[in-house]
Amino acid sequence: MAQSPMRVSLDGNSLINFSSNDYLGLATDDSIAQAAAKGAARYGVGSGASALVTGYSGVHQCFEKELAQFLQRDRVLLCSSGYQANLAVLSSLAAGNDTIIQDRLCHASLIDGAKLSGAQLRRYPHLDMEGLERQLQRSSDGNTLLVTDGIFSMDGDRAPLDDISRISKEFDAWLVVDDAHGIGITGPQGRGCVAAANLGQDEVPVLVGTLGKAFGCAGAFIAGSDALIDHIVNEGRTYIFSTALSPAIAEAGRAALKLVQSDQWRRDKLDELIAQFREGAREFGIKLMESDTPIQPLLVGSAENALSMSAALQAKGMLVTAIRPPTVPVGASRLRITLSAGHQASDVTHLLEALSQCMSKP
Ligand SMILES: *Cc1c(COP(=O)(O)O)cnc(C)c1O
Repeated sequence: MAQSPMRVSLDGNSLINFSSNDYLGLATDDSIAQAAAKGAARYGVGSGASALVTGYSGVHQCFEKELAQFLQRDRVLLCSSGYQANLAVLSSLAAGNDTIIQDRLCHASLIDGAKLSGAQLRRYPHLDMEGLERQLQRSSDGNTLLVTDGIFSMDGDRAPLDDISRISKEFDAWLVVDDAHGIGITGPQGRGCVAAANLGQDEVPVLVGTLGKAFGCAGAFIAGSDALIDHIVNEGRTYIFSTALSPAIAEAGRAALKLVQSDQWRRDKLDELIAQFREGAREFGIKLMESDTPIQPLLVGSAENALSMSAALQAKGMLVTAIRPPTVPVGASRLRITLSAGHQASDVTHLLEALSQCMSKP
């Protein structure tokens, strides 16, 4: 039996984990662990080479097909991490005289991908559609890539994908959505923010997702047209020159995909826990940031504050990590609380009580 999903032991103490991205409680699921073991026995643990050499096997192909069907895209390309996938996407789709436009709170890997591409990077204020249009109106010679997270990793809020997709069409920009935190937790059958907004491959030609968060595994994928995937396979250097995803993990990912699709109860339970947490916080007078996702940050200001609250929560049996600059701006340190279908209602009650005790101390 795998351990209880949201418990971790630290220095001999068992803590409830409120800081992982295992949103559906699948990271310790038995059937996924068994699939990994089966995959390892059948194909080996290591892929042994990059995909273009000999690292790509039947299990990768199977999983890519299943993911493409799930996401309603022509094709999917498995990558060994989301960081790698984003670098491959941006560095192969943009170059010197092109422009990449991003929300200011886009994930670090998207900033690094833009740097690697050599294109000009312009950012707009978080979720500000007028700011986005102003950036698009500034003329540029080459192509324009418009890039956003589906759900923002440190704030938990959602990008207005309908508006963004409409604006991208108006300005003839290619839209890239990184849905690392949306895949599995939102949309029909967990198909993510893009499916929740009813947008297809025409509206969102480049979709990136990770397997290390709601899927409870490791790795990532890029989904889109045949031409897009062919292009990345040929030009995406971080994909080409890196060892392919472990076949054992690919087999585990297939098992995770089945559960993501079938277990609507996990998303329902997660939604109930989110509602319980937000309602309880209101009753205790704890002011949360605006978010309806499993990411429920509590802004505390200084890095010292965040660290001391995190330590106080640990003493009460809860693991809540402090997020400080440079991950977030100076003065915007926070406790990044994440909820999971692996939590129980009583875990959330404990957290609320502990938070209100910590916050009432001078
Ligand atoms: C976690 C994350 C990534 C990176 O994915 P890894 O598989 O951990 O490398 C990329 N984008 C976003 C928005 C993320 O939250």
